[in-house]
Amino acid sequence: MKVIVADQAGVCFGVKRALDLVNAEAEHGGEIATLGPLIHNPQVVHDLECKGVRVVKRVSEVARGTIVMPSHGVARDVTKSAEAAGLRVVDAACPFVEKVHRRVERLAKDGYVVVVVGDAGHSEVKAIKSAAGDDAVVVSSPEDVESVDWSGKKAGIVSQTTQTPWRFGEIVGMIAARAMEVVAYNTICYATHDRQSAARALAPKVEAMFVVGGRNSANTNRLAEICSEEGVPTYHIETAAEVQPGWVVGMQVVGLTAGASTPEWIIEEVKMQLERM
Ligand code: SF4
Repeated sequence: MKVIVADQAGVCFGVKRALDLVNAEAEHGGEIATLGPLIHNPQVVHDLECKGVRVVKRVSEVARGTIVMPSHGVARDVTKSAEAAGLRVVDAACPFVEKVHRRVERLAKDGYVVVVVGDAGHSEVKAIKSAAGDDAVVVSSPEDVESVDWSGKKAGIVSQTTQTPWRFGEIVGMIAARAMEVVAYNTICYATHDRQSAARALAPKVEAMFVVGGRNSANTNRLAEICSEEGVPTYHIETAAEVQPGWVVGMQVVGLTAGASTPEWIIEEVKMQLERM
């Protein structure tokens, strides 16, 4: 069976940067922890744990040494509390996420109600919201837009970096029809954009799509949605071991893409597993 890998797939600039930072810290030795998973890929996080990098839920769980802030960012007061506790802080937040934080701070200062288009429970969105102040709202669906009273409001809209442009555009349009004034910044990062475009281009040319990446990875979930929307059977998996032979019976050619936090070795394992079938 032929396996075509999407032109753009796997680890992005921000994730590579975060991994390089943590690996360099781990080589120096000493106690090191990440606040939450460094990236949304359980296999990579497990590898880091094997190198002695602990994952903690709260700053208070780290008594000494280095604490690393994850690639999807944290609220500013979290960083301050780590510094106040005497910890060495390494900020692995992706520069694109940082840019969104600066953007929402400016919007809030200019009197806009900041609107974040994204998944309310996602850590990146929580951090953006905290930078945007108490009035900020998160919307993830048309129903969320309808549940807010927009009359007389100045809305300053940004996107979670991993949203789809179609969802962002739909929600901006709905808010524009309801609010007094709207300013919208498309803050979807280029890595997300490139991976989504490549997946959308590949999906119609194959008999099934395999999307590899953490189930807790927002950008991987968006890739799976995009492939499904193209009408091909789509399988979101984390590792090669999850591939079931029954999924590809009689198929000649399948497609493969991967989220921005999926390392090359996992993509390669899935590709080999499929080729063997
Ligand atoms: S997906 Fe985009 S915002 Fe997130 S880490 Fe990668 S480059 Fe940065």
